[in-house]
Amino acid sequence: MQIEKGRVVTLNYTLSDEGGKLIDASKDGDFAYLHGAGNIIPGLENALAGKEAGETLTVSIAPEDAYGLRDDTKTQTVTRDMFPEDAEVKPGVQFHAQGSEGQPIVVTVTQVEGDAVTVDGNHPLAGVALHFEVEVMAIRDATAEELSHGHAHGPEGQHSH
Ligand code: ZN
Repeated sequence: MQIEKGRVVTLNYTLSDEGGKLIDASKDGDFAYLHGAGNIIPGLENALAGKEAGETLTVSIAPEDAYGLRDDTKTQTVTRDMFPEDAEVKPGVQFHAQGSEGQPIVVTVTQVEGDAVTVDGNHPLAGVALHFEVEVMAIRDATAEELSHGHAHGPEGQHSH
């Protein structure tokens, strides 16, 4: 069985950046996604199409096909009173905020200088080229429920929510 739209694929993978720094990994057969539903980044989904269980592949993905390029206009400096009083505001901490059109975004604090807090609305992996080592563990047809939800319900499809 090949990977194609409407199938649930279980992967073991290691994700690192260009410098080889580990970003994320799943190696216990726990990660499953619904192919063709935009559940994973486009560059990886495209590379997996047509593969079969047992195949391994190495995929390098440009930022454009991963989490996008960095947009410096998404960085701004705001005052400390924009944050909840009891919140710990320091570099690396993330907050939920609203974008310019009211859409929900996650911002990351990058700098704090007195009352001035610089936040970055870019995805933490924006502008980062990604390097995946992937092993295709299993492929199965998605259940009707998974297809209607647009995502996989775990490797066995039994997870309900
Ligand atoms: Zn669901």
